[in-house]
Amino acid sequence: ASLSFTVGRSFLCRPVVPYSSVSNAMRRSLSSASPMSGSDASAEPNTDKLFTAEHEAMRSTLRRIIEQDINPYVDEWEAKEIFPAKQLFKKLGNAGLLGVTRPVEYGGLGLDYSYSVALAEEYGRVNCGGVPMAIGVQSDMATPALARFGSHELKEQFLRPSIAGDLVACLGVSEPTAGSDVASIKTTARRDGDDLVINGSKMWITSGMQADWMCLLANTEASVKDPYLSKSLICLPLDLPGVQRARKIRKIGMHSSDTAQLFFENVRVPASYLIGEPGQGFIYQMLQFQEERLFGAAANLLGLELIIQETAEYARQRKAFGQSLLDFQTVHFRLAELLTEVELLRSMVYRATAKYVAGNDVTMLASMAKLKAGRLVREVTDSCLQYWGGMGFTDEVRVSRFYRDGRLLSIGAGADEVMLSIICKYMRTLPKPPKK
Ligand SMILES: Cc1cc2nc3c(=O)[nH]c(=O)nc-3n(C[C@H](O)[C@H](O)[C@H](O)COP(=O)(O)OP(=O)(O)OC[C@H]3O[C@@H](n4cnc5c(N)ncnc54)[C@H](O)[C@@H]3O)c2cc1C
Repeated sequence: ASLSFTVGRSFLCRPVVPYSSVSNAMRRSLSSASPMSGSDASAEPNTDKLFTAEHEAMRSTLRRIIEQDINPYVDEWEAKEIFPAKQLFKKLGNAGLLGVTRPVEYGGLGLDYSYSVALAEEYGRVNCGGVPMAIGVQSDMATPALARFGSHELKEQFLRPSIAGDLVACLGVSEPTAGSDVASIKTTARRDGDDLVINGSKMWITSGMQADWMCLLANTEASVKDPYLSKSLICLPLDLPGVQRARKIRKIGMHSSDTAQLFFENVRVPASYLIGEPGQGFIYQMLQFQEERLFGAAANLLGLELIIQETAEYARQRKAFGQSLLDFQTVHFRLAELLTEVELLRSMVYRATAKYVAGNDVTMLASMAKLKAGRLVREVTDSCLQYWGGMGFTDEVRVSRFYRDGRLLSIGAGADEVMLSIICKYMRTLPKPPKK
């Protein structure tokens, strides 16, 4: 059976759950419920001071696109295990939403990172995790180094069309033998005359089956011993001879996003495709992690809230032992605990964003937010799924999709343990590696 989603009358565009099994009364109740927390800008004044009327206007533009061009198709894309990135990115690009923090000269809006966080939060309304993840890669993960350090020619060739939605971008860091330990990647880009010759492979690449180009991290400085200073980022078109998109990887979640393994055999690109200074690629990559982690944490806030809300509504309608499930104190108290946790995460994300926009290093706060988000997604979806009983174990409800999709957050873009190590470094409690 397919998922059936509808847009409720409330400000929140909420999916309505198992049509096959819910009563009309429940449907009415679901479609008229109001949001649970203060994230609904139309219902409450903006008291958090982070988002202005401009942020909210941008969010409503995105909300319309989600309602019209994304959510009605999500079930189809999940089933196909891919979504039409080019088509969708063009719509987002036309609306100016793929480069809000990128330079105006290349088609961006030149705004500060709070606008990206506002959009990330809004993406929580999408009825799956896969599409927002791929959009995040396009808008916030594959292009920051290019925008900051790339040459004018490279920006014209790769950045401008990516912001416009004419090219699909992916980020190639992870490899079959190196994920968390980025410094140990094996892919090489050897200088040969005016070219770079690339050999190696990349693993788990979001949008890897359909991307036009990759922001590739490769070893370029064979003579440099320090692994942090021997790598470069390179713009790699993916239609070149020697590029093989080996396979689309099947996954337990994020189904609508294509995840690929790619091989490179003597792939030639002009040496001018190297971004910024040779040997700085690892550092450029690390620089953008603060943003990537804030984006990842923000993108889950609304989704979690919606799941808690839907669970409350479902539990209200569902009767067991002569009463509504929601009336069991263990259920309504638990949902209250979970919503409190989501609000705490929101406060942390907003605070980190405000500090970042003011020019501070928020590596520790952003790592804390990413860590907490990964753990909270697991906690909320697991607890809520429990209250859906057998229904929660089916493929027909939003909670089970987010239970699967959300699991990635504790692994990707820095696993929980990597976040803990960073926090420990700032706490000065991380032991030094043993002397060899
Ligand atoms: C759906 C999906 C999409 C992805 N998209 C991309 C993409 O677009 N581009 C890209 O480059 N990569 C992408 N990745 C890869 C992702 O970033 C890596 O999977 C992630 O960094 C973890 O690396 P790994 O899988 O090699 O795990 P490993 O590095 O092998 O780690 C395995 C586990 O070991 C533990 N661990 C790791 N380090 C430590 C430590 N220091 N201390 C204690 N425990 C530790 C953690 O529990 C970790 O989960 C994607 C992955 C998935 C599943």
